[in-house]
Amino acid sequence: MQREAEVLRALLDVSRIIASNYPMPDVIKRITTKLRGILKADECSIMILDESQQHLAFVESSGLTRWELDNIRFRVGEGVAGWVAKHKKPVVIPRLSEDPRFMPVKEQKRPMISMICVPLIIKQRLIGVVTLTTRHEDHIFSQEDLELTVLLSAHVSLMLENNRLYEISVLDGLTNLYNRRYMEQRLDKELSYARRFHHPLSFFMVDIDWFKKLNDTYGHQAGDAVLRIVSELFTRALREYDIVARYGGEEFAVILPSTPRSKAASIAERLRASVAEEDVSHQHQLIPVSVSVGVATYPEDGQTSEALIAKADRALYRAKRSGRNRVVLADDD
Ligand code: GH3
Ligand code: MG
Ligand code: MG
Repeated sequence: MQREAEVLRALLDVSRIIASNYPMPDVIKRITTKLRGILKADECSIMILDESQQHLAFVESSGLTRWELDNIRFRVGEGVAGWVAKHKKPVVIPRLSEDPRFMPVKEQKRPMISMICVPLIIKQRLIGVVTLTTRHEDHIFSQEDLELTVLLSAHVSLMLENNRLYEISVLDGLTNLYNRRYMEQRLDKELSYARRFHHPLSFFMVDIDWFKKLNDTYGHQAGDAVLRIVSELFTRALREYDIVARYGGEEFAVILPSTPRSKAASIAERLRASVAEEDVSHQHQLIPVSVSVGVATYPEDGQTSEALIAKADRALYRAKRSGRNRVVLADDD
């Protein structure tokens, strides 16, 4: 009875973490910490299968060093984790030193005595493994520990799969920026927040200059590469809480919460300059790239997302007409 109560408690704790609103790396970190506590393990890690490379790599974990997280990879079939990935079967290993599957990593200095390794599977597809280890001679995992880990891991698999599907639905495949649909929903949300708390909010429409000509001159592949590079520059030039999206072909939208017009103008200018000053090259060819930006700010330029988008779009049009590679504010037009 006491065991049953413990299992239910563990399930509840893990479900609570999964249902929380933290960013995914935080959730994974909290889950591994929780599993470690529940199973009294010294380390708990989650490895995810990189399907193109066919190897397992760590995501956030509990008890591992940074070096281990960044450097240890197991090919499918290699080591205990690789064996579990290959056979899609959970294992409990009382004494690692006596198991032929165990592949010690020489930089891993601490002792490892006992291990549980469980596959994370969704619809018969392997997505990763959960591993728990002990480092004390007298601490050996039991069959019961394994069963509990299997039970909890089923929840972890579902969470990871949901997260993957969510990312696919909100991200643009080429640039990994948010897509237009997400951006529009988010703009509505940020605007209602701005309204409620009497904060300003700025919005940019950005368009790459002469992009058709760029494609015609350097090829579509180069065009795609430029889209990725420009996305990367934007992400770097903006702050963590700004939201960048690919709005359409070579158009981007940026939401800047709590940002008044004057501040937005200087950020837009920084964005423009970061592209104009970058030596963009593709297959050893230097490609001149610039962008034009239209800026609109809540509340002065519009009250709704439609109004702000339209105002920013009109300002962008002016930026194009007046020579490109420039920033135009909505009230300038
Ligand atoms: P402007 O300076 O006025 O913005 O001129 P532009 O040539 O950039 O604008 P236009 O709208 O005429 O052309 C946009 C081009 O972008 C046309 C289209 O072929 C190209 N494009 C759209 N999406 C993609 C994409 O995903 N990859 C590549 N390589 N090109 C794309
Ligand atoms: Mg365009
Ligand atoms: Mg363009």
